[in-house]
Amino acid sequence: MSQSLESRLAAKPKILFFTDFDGTITLQDTNDFVTDNYGHGYDTRRGIMDEILKETETFRGGFQKMLDSWNMPFPKVLEILSENIQLDPGFKDFMVWARSNKVPVIVLSSGMYGVIDTLLKLLLGDDLASDLEIISNTTKPIPPKNSLDEANGWTIEFHDDSGFGHDKSLTLREYAKAIEKLPADQRPTMLYAGDGVSDLSAARESDLLFAKEGQDLVTYCEREGIPFTTFKDWTEIKRETEQIFSGEKSVKRLATESLQRVRTNSIENQSNPPKPRRASSFDQAAAEQELKRLRSGVSVEDAIKE
Ligand SMILES: [Mg+2]
Repeated sequence: MSQSLESRLAAKPKILFFTDFDGTITLQDTNDFVTDNYGHGYDTRRGIMDEILKETETFRGGFQKMLDSWNMPFPKVLEILSENIQLDPGFKDFMVWARSNKVPVIVLSSGMYGVIDTLLKLLLGDDLASDLEIISNTTKPIPPKNSLDEANGWTIEFHDDSGFGHDKSLTLREYAKAIEKLPADQRPTMLYAGDGVSDLSAARESDLLFAKEGQDLVTYCEREGIPFTTFKDWTEIKRETEQIFSGEKSVKRLATESLQRVRTNSIENQSNPPKPRRASSFDQAAAEQELKRLRSGVSVEDAIKE
């Protein structure tokens, strides 16, 4: 369901929930799955990832190479993924809760619209899937075959010109800017859920980030002092979102608890002072510098080493 930013805010939601798709809503990453099993395989994909880490390749360029290796009609891609990809066990319940509490859920993805739309309808059902807005890359026909039904007839069409292909911070910042103009008691809380490298451009732009346990995003957020809480599955996201919705817990308290939990189990240097949340509000210059670095394809690992 696509709605304008204005009409969403006019409905006065208490929470706006943004989320990654691959590996966050689903248990597997769809693009990695096709590449590893039907494209150039895991080893070559790993090589591309290493190039991205060394900054000799952007996320956008590496992703294109992965897709170029698939060499199959788009309906075949959908068939493979429909048979192999599973939904997070708590996501359906979360969507039911979001509907009954008028919480908009917006998918921000580096994947392709056709894949996401097909899988959401299949795994959630048409009715609940219709509640989700999808902002993502898409597909386009290309010569010589010019058809999605032909192996050499289509490719990915990126959402924007950034090194990410889809810079998720662009949408989040539009919302953040509009929200800042609202009276304080009418400002919805912006939440974001993600798991990996494609979420770095979004990490600083929400009031609280749900980062999937054991993934790169957790380490990155800890080091950067970005408010976050970890999740195993959407059952936990639902519980904490309900606590925020009811006012039982603040985003600040959830983030503090999570940081303590992660640091207790961490051998990382604990002396880094936290940076302010939502950098667009407090530290525009630092945010711009960070995004410039991220857009050029710098990896989490390299960011952490700095
Ligand atoms: Mg992901």
